[in-house]
Amino acid sequence: THQIKQGNINLSNINFNYTDETNNSATSRVLNNINLSIKAGEKVALLGRTGCGKSTLLSLITREWLPNTGTIEIDHIATEQYSQIALTSGMSVVSQRVYIFSGTLRENLILAQPETKQQTFKNAAEQKIARDINDKKLHSILNTVGLGHLTEGDQSFETWLGEGGRQLSGGEQRRIGVARALLHNAPILLLDEPTEGLDKRTERDILKLLFEFAKDKTLLMISHRLTAMNKMDKIYLMEDGTIRNSGSHKEL
Ligand code: ATP
Ligand code: MG
Repeated sequence: THQIKQGNINLSNINFNYTDETNNSATSRVLNNINLSIKAGEKVALLGRTGCGKSTLLSLITREWLPNTGTIEIDHIATEQYSQIALTSGMSVVSQRVYIFSGTLRENLILAQPETKQQTFKNAAEQKIARDINDKKLHSILNTVGLGHLTEGDQSFETWLGEGGRQLSGGEQRRIGVARALLHNAPILLLDEPTEGLDKRTERDILKLLFEFAKDKTLLMISHRLTAMNKMDKIYLMEDGTIRNSGSHKEL
């Protein structure tokens, strides 16, 4: 079976719409003839207004959804050729809505692919892709994302986090997502607005951390702001499901 090693991503002629499962009728086109090529190690941003299709594009790369037409290749192999596990372990994802599942803080940090789609996670959990990570490492990661308080006092890694992480703030949930990605040492890092809703200072700290971590990895970061764009090799501007423009920070 194939494994993701380098982290090249190629999308060609991608068209996609969400189909309504109840009557199977196609809704309007969400992605329109997308071509995107990211080389291993490149740092790329995907910018665009709300609803233009950024998260959808990400969910095709992770194969949460399949395109209607076109091909998606990772390291020059179509994503269908990889097992779900290979895709899961080859990509670290911080999705726009970090999914906290019913389990301990430890489980929420170390189980692979606690992804947007609960089902995807369940597969991973059932197959027990828990990474072997010791408490020292967990403590250090929690501290770096500013969540050290979650294991202080009578709190511990065994603290139960309820479905949806209701007892955590939105910012805390997001930072758990970042911690997961940092613990998951994959060649591809996909970030969907990783600092949304965090204050400026925390945002700066977290982005710094993520960029250091991604130094020798492929990074695709979705944003609708221009924060940290000077650190990107290339920026793609999306509009109504297509890529309108691309270039370096200077060029755009
Ligand atoms: P934002 O910046 O607000 O996160 P986005 O660029 O990530 O926006 P998407 O979430 O990709 O946008 O949504 C693109 C379009 O697809 C929107 O019109 C949205 O309503 C629609 N859409 C998104 N998810 C689904 C879904 N699961 N089923 C049906 N339509 C969807
Ligand atoms: Mg989105």
